[in-house]
Amino acid sequence: MSFDQLGLAPSLLEAVAAEGYSTPTPIQAKAIPAVLEGQDVLAAAQTGTGKTAAFTLPLLHRLGQDTATKPRVLVLTPTRELAAQVEQSVKTYGRGGHLRSTVIFGGVGYQPQISAFRKGVDIIVATPGRLLDHLQQGNVDLSGLETLVLDEADRMLDMGFIHDIKRVLKHVPAKRQTLLFSATFSKDIRKLAASLLHKPVEIDVAPRNATADRIDQKVVMVEKSRKRALLSHLIGTGDWSQVLVFTRTKHGANRLVKQLETDGLSAAALHGNKSQNARTKALDGFKAGTLRVLVATDIAARGIDIDALPHVVNYELPNVPEDYVHRIGRTGRAGSAGEAVSLVGPDERKYLKDIEKLIGSSIERMVVEGIDLRSAGHDEPEDDRPPRRDNGGGNRPPKRGGGRGGPNRANAGGEAPKANPAGRRRKPRRGKRGGQRSGGGAN
Ligand code: AMP
Repeated sequence: MSFDQLGLAPSLLEAVAAEGYSTPTPIQAKAIPAVLEGQDVLAAAQTGTGKTAAFTLPLLHRLGQDTATKPRVLVLTPTRELAAQVEQSVKTYGRGGHLRSTVIFGGVGYQPQISAFRKGVDIIVATPGRLLDHLQQGNVDLSGLETLVLDEADRMLDMGFIHDIKRVLKHVPAKRQTLLFSATFSKDIRKLAASLLHKPVEIDVAPRNATADRIDQKVVMVEKSRKRALLSHLIGTGDWSQVLVFTRTKHGANRLVKQLETDGLSAAALHGNKSQNARTKALDGFKAGTLRVLVATDIAARGIDIDALPHVVNYELPNVPEDYVHRIGRTGRAGSAGEAVSLVGPDERKYLKDIEKLIGSSIERMVVEGIDLRSAGHDEPEDDRPPRRDNGGGNRPPKRGGGRGGPNRANAGGEAPKANPAGRRRKPRRGKRGGQRSGGGAN
């Protein structure tokens, strides 16, 4: 199947060709005709499947060339990054037309957003909280809305945006087209879909681990206190030029960046406590290749789209197995090969087991030469609090290059006795909306 067969306007086909896409991805082949017909769509698709173009292209086609007095399409996303990225796609695919789009999220001033609304806008891409603020202040009128898209709906629910979404819905006409994209179909997503969608076309193109085929997945069993040295070692010996590293906490991300910098690696953290400017700068530097390591938390990494990102490292495994699939899905995009290495501490084995169960196969254990993976002393604290300055011993930095190991001690660490109690950092990963927002999170 080619894009020409989908019935899209010539200007859209030109944009698609200019992007270098030759054939529609499976989700595009299925969603584009349904959206063109005005049907509701319920699609199981994660980032990397081409889902953005799957709704953006047909919606641009439907909007045609005429700008309207009120917004006609609203796309809700869980994070600022995803919102920015989707709006960029709208601009990219829509550059042959005259439609106006704007992106709305928190953490930046209201005034430019209000001005954009005043000038008139056809397509809004927004995170729910800030959009709701605008609606409550009467800055924007959604009564002319024709299509509502919920992108990464599962993540929006996880992040506690359901109430904001429901409030936004009160400002949107009941008679409209609704498209819901979600990586997973939990009971809650089904419930939301049942309440929002009318006879939706159901599309499921992405079995949960479909992307994993192109990704070379590996696990290294390592003591927690040796993870940093191992990461620097892997980056150095593998000559990795661009690696996305996941930590579970914001504090962990900050600390790792500092440590990597002492190892002489250019690194930056991407998480919800960073200003929008800092986030954009980090992401741009990473994309441009001036920044070698980007350390991110799950939520901040959502929607990061970097073509051909070669390496992903799980510095800590996520405690939600699905997040593993999301994380490694950042590499091995669009047919290119990718490598995902997980550094697994003794207290993370349960997470590993859950992940292997979800993906339905066991992940290859990797042997790393030239570095001792066993702890030379006590492990570092790994929770979200700043390190304590007491004499408890637990915070002592790891001895570097300790005398116990030489080459080929690899992998022994995983079998060593536990150095850190597992229960220590069972902080709920997913906050309520208030927390997210006050913490400068996604919204
Ligand atoms: P998404 O799933 O929307 O995040 O898209 C993932 C990546 O696939 C983006 O970098 C798109 O530019 C790219 N992409 C989207 N559609 C196609 C296509 N038909 N052929 C090749 N790449 C595509």
